[in-house]
Amino acid sequence: MVKNLKCKVEECVYNDHFNCTADAVEVCSSGTNHVTTQDNTACSTFSPLNG
Ligand code: SF4
Repeated sequence: MVKNLKCKVEECVYNDHFNCTADAVEVCSSGTNHVTTQDNTACSTFSPLNG
């Protein structure tokens, strides 16, 4: 489990009361190859609760 990784994506299977419980997390750029804001990033480890 990644230590002290806070996440607000409650719809993810790894989210437990806003703490990420995944063993490892990968974050990638999202929607652009030129990342300038946090909105241009996304968690690739996300897995939907009811997926
Ligand atoms: S895997 Fe990503 S989206 Fe899911 S709880 Fe962890 S940081 Fe959040």
